Amino acid sequence: MSRVRASLGTLAVLGMELMLMDAPPTTAYLQIYTEQRCRANCLFCSQAKDSEGELKQIARGQYMPADLEEVVRRLGIAFEKGYLHRACIQTAMYPGMWEDTVYLIGRIRDTCSIPISLSVFPLDDMKYQTLARLGVDQLVIPLDASTPDLFHRIKGKGAGGPFTWESHMDGLKRAVAVFPHVGTHIIVGMGETDKEMVELVGRLHGMGINAALFAYTKLPGTRAVDVVNTKPDIRHYRRVQIASYLLRHNLVRLDDMEFEGGDLTHFGLDEHDLEAVLEKGEAFMTTGCANCNRPYATETHDLVYNYPVAPNGGEINRIKQQIENEMEMEM
Ligand code: SF4
Repeated sequence: MSRVRASLGTLAVLGMELMLMDAPPTTAYLQIYTEQRCRANCLFCSQAKDSEGELKQIARGQYMPADLEEVVRRLGIAFEKGYLHRACIQTAMYPGMWEDTVYLIGRIRDTCSIPISLSVFPLDDMKYQTLARLGVDQLVIPLDASTPDLFHRIKGKGAGGPFTWESHMDGLKRAVAVFPHVGTHIIVGMGETDKEMVELVGRLHGMGINAALFAYTKLPGTRAVDVVNTKPDIRHYRRVQIASYLLRHNLVRLDDMEFEGGDLTHFGLDEHDLEAVLEKGEAFMTTGCANCNRPYATETHDLVYNYPVAPNGGEINRIKQQIENEMEMEM
């Protein structure tokens, strides 16, 4: 394998692209190089078997083919200099994927000791052991959906794909026994309620699994466009973000939160403590592996779901306006 895909922002940090950035990536975002479509068929994904989207597209990110050896060489330098703190490798399901993944991880490890995250579908225990031995410190198995039913429709048989909720949950549980850190990605805005999303984040947290939130992004050529045609409601996103932050930091228990229908109506904190959480701004920053900031992975400059750096005072005021209705409800 002589090539690897890397996000444009990553290539810019590596000095292989020219790009003006207000928030450079702190993780190198890489994708295994293949010209094949993924054998899976996730409804929202550009690389899916039945998608007509571009292979280089992951959410809003453009992953350009680049020389693997040059990327790895420069990655070592960027890590030593403190520009990049993690390498994140995205995979796809195709014959040869395992060999390509092992090769890329091996080449990175031969060059430097940068922490490595691998995002992949569930693998067997032997492969988990091999990955851990090679130096993967964080395994990520994207659930993407927040309920078994939604999973069936967007990643499973309902979407013409091979995955099941049960095998993904099993893969995550087995990974917890092998890797120091295990995570998943969940897409907000696929038709779920606050309650479904927050309950899943809380359940995963209890299992030692870190859930990173993504905003659904409509991509040309994907079949999800026919099913979900809008960006997530920012108020829904903020409620889920705040609740997830409180659960992840053990500031509130799920039982302390209140829901009406599917809507979150009380975070389980008093007014003063909630205000302190909002003012801190951390709750609105990108979630995921350590040092992952995914700048503009799902955002535009006028609609930021996940902040790649801590939001400033003006941004926090804007966030408060976005959730004003919900705050009135609980104060
Ligand atoms: S959280 Fe960030 S670093 Fe971790 S797998 Fe997801 S995109 Fe990669």
